Amino acid sequence: LAATSYRGRFAPSPTGPLHAGSLVAALASWLDARAHDGTWLVRIEDVDTPRCVPGADQRILEQLATCGLVPDEPVCWQSTRGTHYQAALDRLIAQGDAYPCACSRKDIEAALLAAGRHRERHHAAVYPGTCRPERGGLHGREARAWRLNVASGTLKWQDRRLGPQQQDVAAEVGDFVLLRADGLWAYQLAVVVDDAAQGITHVVRGEDLADNTPRQILLQQALGLPTPSYLHTPLVRDTHGEKLSKQNGAQALDLGDPLAALQTAAAVLGLPAAAGPLHEALALWARAWPWRRPTGG
Ligand code: GLU
Repeated sequence: LAATSYRGRFAPSPTGPLHAGSLVAALASWLDARAHDGTWLVRIEDVDTPRCVPGADQRILEQLATCGLVPDEPVCWQSTRGTHYQAALDRLIAQGDAYPCACSRKDIEAALLAAGRHRERHHAAVYPGTCRPERGGLHGREARAWRLNVASGTLKWQDRRLGPQQQDVAAEVGDFVLLRADGLWAYQLAVVVDDAAQGITHVVRGEDLADNTPRQILLQQALGLPTPSYLHTPLVRDTHGEKLSKQNGAQALDLGDPLAALQTAAAVLGLPAAAGPLHEALALWARAWPWRRPTGG
């Protein structure tokens, strides 16, 4: 068998330990890499420092190891990669694709209200473009953040599990933030720069992130970077039907019995029941992995 060039990753934010939902994404990305004879990486996405919990990164790595999920290469921390994000932003600025924005949240709400456009519940406001260069830029105010200048049009992409997807990023999201007003790098920029730097060919992650994909593809295109293929996994829901997340208080995994935790995650992925030991269950699921044929991005 020829070695494949498959490179996948699990990219947790260290805002708390793994929970049942994040274990599904971890297991799925590991299985997809194994099923393709690929390399599996772990990247700690600790750019949003106010949300990071000290020690959560080590805890996550320990939890993964307890589950038999061990990265093939050294772990990367996004907090060490600021110069690379800055270089990407500089390039976007030089190309005229990024512009500084002086608007506060209040300014944005007021502009939307004035334009008769109400912010939809549960959705961040679409930035009305007040600081776009063609509309006069900062209007003498001080820059707070940097945004991508998103051209209108529908972006189509293929998800290996969800099938054909599309989004009009300009209409549904707007000119999104690359460097935040608090000086922190936005997830969208960091993830795109690092997926490319690490040579990631296949992104496997939770379905809650699916609607971020078009923004990431736009950034890849603007930066001349390749687009990986994407597979978004089913979400674990709590008894109220809500997505499990650290924000809504998902319990940390009980890893006294890692096989039981993995069996629950495997069931979410539609994989067959497997008895222990751990490594045999993992091998069986890798063989049973249904999403074997990647479709290019
Ligand atoms: N760090 C992100 C999260 O934990 C995931 C990023 C990704 O897989 O693209 O939600």
